Amino acid sequence: MSINRFLPFFIILTMFLACKTVKLGVVEGFPDPKDTSDKPILYQEKGVFKQGVITADNTFNGARLNGFDQINDTTYRVTILPENEPINSSPHFAFSLQAEETTDIDLEIYYGDHKHRYWPKLSTDKETWFPIDSSQFDTLKAGNLATLKLQVNSEKLYVSAQELMDTEYNLEWSQTISQSENVELSVIGKSKLGRDILCLDICKGPKKKKPTIIIFSRLHPPEISGYVAMMSFVEELLKDKPLSDSFLEKHRVLVYPLINPDGVDMGHWRHNAGGIDINRDWSHYRQEEVKVVATHAINTVNKNKNKVLAGFDFHSTQEDLYYTLTPNRSSTIFPFKDLWIQGIDDALDGYTPQDEPYDLNSPITKGWFYLLFDAEGITYEIGDETDRAFVKKKAEVAAREMMKLLVLRK
Ligand SMILES: [Zn+2]
Repeated sequence: MSINRFLPFFIILTMFLACKTVKLGVVEGFPDPKDTSDKPILYQEKGVFKQGVITADNTFNGARLNGFDQINDTTYRVTILPENEPINSSPHFAFSLQAEETTDIDLEIYYGDHKHRYWPKLSTDKETWFPIDSSQFDTLKAGNLATLKLQVNSEKLYVSAQELMDTEYNLEWSQTISQSENVELSVIGKSKLGRDILCLDICKGPKKKKPTIIIFSRLHPPEISGYVAMMSFVEELLKDKPLSDSFLEKHRVLVYPLINPDGVDMGHWRHNAGGIDINRDWSHYRQEEVKVVATHAINTVNKNKNKVLAGFDFHSTQEDLYYTLTPNRSSTIFPFKDLWIQGIDDALDGYTPQDEPYDLNSPITKGWFYLLFDAEGITYEIGDETDRAFVKKKAEVAAREMMKLLVLRK
């Protein structure tokens, strides 16, 4: 038998290996898979609630208010409950207060069995927010009750755990970004309750075979500081010319800016409308939002033979840090992460980035990027109360350092 008879098969095999496609199916390799099947959630009663001289309202996107009571002449209490339990103790609250005449009140925010997390922010227009002054705010030792001293009048006063940035805000931001000639905005599918899930596809020129970066945000609804970082990071990829031009000529970026739209608009603490933490579902894709994003990302990179180099997932926690993978899980662009963090360190005086590597555990996005694409997986965490100007500046630096490293890569 001549060797020539096998040659076509060998060529096909070589082509197959060179253009390895990523499969859409259960992702094996997570040591601690979770049951991410739907669980029931508590729906808030939406309405305008009057007690004494004060009116409380939760009829807007992102609101969370589960009870409103008057305790005595000057003290009122709002009750804040999670969408379901067990849940990470991150009580998100958002409501407005109004009174016919100017009234000083003590407002208690009661979290049931959960501990306070977010420093309250105040606004009269839901656009400009001010952290409450420390002289007006206290949390009791038990931690499940916060007290605020507020002056309420006929103008609505919004009180919220974080700035409110709902799906409408996200659509407007995405549309603004997509005015760049290098950006295509599309609706890639719907959430469990039918809200749009968006993707920004960023590239200069043809997309075929360009190495690709994936960006995720808002898997957890109230994690606004991480979302603010994501927006600045993405904006920098378009405006830091000539670096951004060289980067986008060689690379493609897929941005999924808000992956949990039901949770965001329903004012959830952490879960989606299926009652699940969707950052634990990246092996079985049981939740609609995860299935939509994973399917889109995999089909898109397969179609254009794009090799995914890195995935960044933007979140918020108590402090700024990077959750990365341990060296036994090195990506195809190893040691990118160490050089990138060093670059951020060198570029920012008086700030030392905190790298917290840990091995694969439950099915979170960081592990998904690595297991599916051999890519660098980074959870980019911003402190809940980190100064927003610094959040933006650091994200611009982080985007520049990433572009520099990848442009120089052979
Ligand atoms: Zn998170």
